[in-house]
Amino acid sequence: MFENLIDQGVCDLLRSDIQNSRLPPSMLFYGREAQGKLTCALEVARILSCERTEALWTCDCPSCVLHRALSHPDLLIIGSRDCTSEIRAAGATFLSKPQASTRYLFLRSIRKLTLRFSGQTVNTDDARFARAIPHLSDIEEYLEEIDPSRPIEGDTTKLEKIIKAIIDKCEKLESDSLPESIPVSQIRNASTWSRLVPYGKQKVLIVDNADRMQEGARNAFLKILEEPPEHMVFVLTTSRRGAMLPTILSRVRTYAFVERPDKSLALVVSRVFHDSLRDGENLGDFFNRFLPVDPATIRLAAALFLDYVLRHALDRGKSSPPCLPSILEADIGSNARVEALSGIISLLQKCRPPVIWRLFLSSLTALLQRSIRTGQATAAEIAVYSQWTSLLGESVSAVDTYNITPLATLERLSVAMGDSL
Ligand SMILES: [Zn+2]
Repeated sequence: MFENLIDQGVCDLLRSDIQNSRLPPSMLFYGREAQGKLTCALEVARILSCERTEALWTCDCPSCVLHRALSHPDLLIIGSRDCTSEIRAAGATFLSKPQASTRYLFLRSIRKLTLRFSGQTVNTDDARFARAIPHLSDIEEYLEEIDPSRPIEGDTTKLEKIIKAIIDKCEKLESDSLPESIPVSQIRNASTWSRLVPYGKQKVLIVDNADRMQEGARNAFLKILEEPPEHMVFVLTTSRRGAMLPTILSRVRTYAFVERPDKSLALVVSRVFHDSLRDGENLGDFFNRFLPVDPATIRLAAALFLDYVLRHALDRGKSSPPCLPSILEADIGSNARVEALSGIISLLQKCRPPVIWRLFLSSLTALLQRSIRTGQATAAEIAVYSQWTSLLGESVSAVDTYNITPLATLERLSVAMGDSL
């Protein structure tokens, strides 16, 4: 058990808890992103349902076969996640080395997304989820072509076409239909599902990024945790433990996922994705390499946006923070300045999948931090950056939670940033 997790020490603790029947019904896996929390939660689900005591990763019992393909009816996932960069990375791996293990890697990366749209948890009268139905049915159709029961497609061009079609559909599914925060209706449906008798030994509900629940959803979830149904295990994951409601924290046992050393991450990338990390890259950077907009373009878009804000503020008679222009100058180089914010959105390919928007805002924050690190920023300048940072925080939720378009959010943000100069 846990053989598929590389160098994650918490697995020893979980293994011991499982072998000694001490595993609690509600757990919180916390730690930074890309440290194996979801992989571990899925492995816990497989182990608990396995019909053999050793519960090896390669076990061929019917339950493990279904769990490895992430298609066991006793497993559900709710919550948001950036799924498509992992799907793209896994697709590239499968295409470069088409074999059983890489096909599973690709299939599992897709299921990690589609499992969040189970008919058991989503309400199709919600427009967002109704939009998911045609995408899901297209994905299922394509998946039949690479089903583990079939021989692997030998024609590389045909395989590439299938993989590309699946990735496109997954991106549409995530961009159009995966809510950033879990709606209360999904928690209510999950509660009903959790009270149904399992097909096998144990049911598992994974609540991914559980800190992103809205208040109503948190309270509804708290009720399930107060009286967890028999045969039910809840695994919550978060990279922001501090954002979890204390009442939820008091009802779960916490398991800390430590940040793995560089050599372990390099091993994950070489062993699982048959690739290698570049200098200074972590696992998240590796996945981001596969996004439709490369990280360098996202950084350029951030510099161009700040340059736009400063130029327009100067036109309004405001003064620019002294350190920032030279930093922007270095990043923009010979690239043309943008005259309209729509130019930024085009550079970011309309911010689809949504993770591109969040990476763009992180790049803006990084630029401000670089300006502070020069040691030459004045107190007034630092005060402006602090206001801007909180505006950037609001811009994440404007798009993710309130469905305001990235362009409208940028327009508002540029005016608000200019006003605070
Ligand atoms: Zn088994």
